[in-house]
Amino acid sequence: MTDAVSLIQRKRDGGTLADAEIRWLFTAYAANEVADEQMSALLMAIFFQGLDQQELRTWTAAMIDSGDRLDLSQVTRPTVDKHSTGGVGDKVSLILAPLVAACGAAVPQLSGRGLGHTGGTLDKLDAIPGFTSSLSPEQTIAVMRQAGAVIAAAGSGLAPADRRLYALRDVTGTVESIPLIASSIMSKKIAEGTESLVLDVKVGTGAFMKSYDQAKQLAQTMVTLGREHGVRTAALLTRMDQPLGNAVGNAVEVEESVQALQGHGPEDLMRVTYALAEQMLSLAGIRGEDPREKIASGQAYEAYRTMIRAQGGDPDAPLPKAPHTKVVTAATTGWLANLDALKVGVAAWRLGAGRARKEDPVSAAAGVMCLAKPGDRLEKGQPVLELRADDERRFAGAEQALGTAIVIQADQPPPPPDPVIERIEG
Ligand code: URA
Repeated sequence: MTDAVSLIQRKRDGGTLADAEIRWLFTAYAANEVADEQMSALLMAIFFQGLDQQELRTWTAAMIDSGDRLDLSQVTRPTVDKHSTGGVGDKVSLILAPLVAACGAAVPQLSGRGLGHTGGTLDKLDAIPGFTSSLSPEQTIAVMRQAGAVIAAAGSGLAPADRRLYALRDVTGTVESIPLIASSIMSKKIAEGTESLVLDVKVGTGAFMKSYDQAKQLAQTMVTLGREHGVRTAALLTRMDQPLGNAVGNAVEVEESVQALQGHGPEDLMRVTYALAEQMLSLAGIRGEDPREKIASGQAYEAYRTMIRAQGGDPDAPLPKAPHTKVVTAATTGWLANLDALKVGVAAWRLGAGRARKEDPVSAAAGVMCLAKPGDRLEKGQPVLELRADDERRFAGAEQALGTAIVIQADQPPPPPDPVIERIEG
């Protein structure tokens, strides 16, 4: 006879949980026979002792089996999705989903909202008049069949155990655990029913994972989990020390994504987007399609417009504009050596682009425009950032958050960083 206290004690003391015990735990927790405080204690034991590969596989399977799986069998194209661990200015999904669809894949991009300094894809798309991300499973599949790509909210039926566990982790200091993060992300992605998955694991000041070693371990853990569950999975480690692209916010990131789809994307954003697109096409078994050509020919932009319309949005409607702007200028002449992603992300959040609690509203128009990027030459007094807000009282908090975000060096330009660090396969 299994009981929660024995499992907590065993994990606390460095022991292993058997498959049947993990299955029992999730069933009993769903039936409220295991209390939240017991689950919290077990999460803390896992935080310190970890889960071995077999435990992690079963833990993730139990999270998937706590809910429904999307059945994508009616979608005739190969299905492939991307998940990013989140970063500042990371609007890649808006460009990538229609781009990969234009190359012949179907992209079931089920996404979340932003919390803290990293933005959420759905918050960005909500800036488009009429657009809805709340789709039933049938509607999700219908949009994918019509447009090749869909970007919608992961419904409450997908891995509901994750929702409860994440809420506990959030208030018990147990979020930053690699097996718990990996099982949380992968249970939702596997339940979504995609055949292939590319993970964009971000590393740097503006990312969840600050160090290369942590990011690599997370990427390897998720790639292994995906493959064990029958999803062809690969990961890219990409840099998140400076904002990706020039726009940070909601409407401003939609605007930049449209420009990117029209062939005018900033270089760092496009390098990450093309690297992910190539990985996705390779996993999906699509050969001979060139993502650059799909942008140049306008087919990717057309796929974006079809997707936005299929989800009720008007791709031609003007986007909300902030009534107040304020420019931050260069304090000295020299080369822009760094533009700290975390500080810019927190500034955008304070301007109203992000939320502190899940239920908070976000401003569509607020954000930060980076008018210069590391490597650019600046004259003293030249604009570096433009802050945008609905309420000018927000500028003071944003400027305080920026602090030392802008680093200018007099002597030489910084070496140009490659935003794509490494590719990780199973
Ligand atoms: N995102 C998730 O979905 N889960 C985590 O645990 C962390 C980030």
